[in-house]
Amino acid sequence: MPFPREKLARVADYLSLFSLFRSDFLQSHLIDCNSYAGFIIEDAPVKELFANPLHPYTIGLLGALPRLDSEESKRLVSIKGTPPDLLIPLQHCPFAWRCEYAFDRCWEEIPPLYDVDEKHQTSCFYDLEKGGPRHD
Ligand code: SF4
Repeated sequence: MPFPREKLARVADYLSLFSLFRSDFLQSHLIDCNSYAGFIIEDAPVKELFANPLHPYTIGLLGALPRLDSEESKRLVSIKGTPPDLLIPLQHCPFAWRCEYAFDRCWEEIPPLYDVDEKHQTSCFYDLEKGGPRHD
């Protein structure tokens, strides 16, 4: 029986979460990047990545983190949806199936890494800071 893609998505998310934790814990990396399906989707100094995540996947991962400063005990939140089938070459954003901000362009092109500032890049057609599609 093949491994269900939904479970694969959970495993990939946990690995990404672990990767973010590792970066935060070591603090020796001045720059860290978050990747999804083999694509770098966000690249920034560790503190900046945690304080100001700009890619929907990074935001989803950080939203799934349990909080030590919360008295409420919560189950880990999972990001809905399935990862792309990596046997099929992608023609669109790798996160589009799971993204609540996806719009037409996301299904037509792979987003490049956009410079947010000189140390922060994100691979997303949607500008979360401005609340609308990027114009490039
Ligand atoms: S490019 Fe589109 S689908 Fe991909 S993360 Fe950004 S808004 Fe979501």
